[in-house]
Amino acid sequence: MNVNPITPAKAPAADCGCGSCGFTPVTIDSEDCTACGECVEVNPAIFGWDAEKMATVIDAKGGPFKDVVKAAEKCPAQVIHPGTPADPNEKDLEALIARAQKYN
Ligand code: SF4
Repeated sequence: MNVNPITPAKAPAADCGCGSCGFTPVTIDSEDCTACGECVEVNPAIFGWDAEKMATVIDAKGGPFKDVVKAAEKCPAQVIHPGTPADPNEKDLEALIARAQKYN
């Protein structure tokens, strides 16, 4: 009988946002944000400002996972947690997931 080998981290199979398909949206610990604006500059469709003028997630699926990871890497307060990719077909996903792990 074959035993499945341990598989490396890979993208979720679906992108329905149901909470059971494996997609974990990016989050920000907004209370510790320094409001530097780096994340909003990376992608204003994903990141924006809340009523207290702290960064917040506007739309976790508003852009590529590449931008989510880039924002997490640029965040001086290290308060961005990339979660998992929404699009399992995005280019270079394994490398991006590996980079994201440091911030999740
Ligand atoms: S990059 Fe980090 S510290 Fe700067 S605005 Fe975004 S969440 Fe806040």
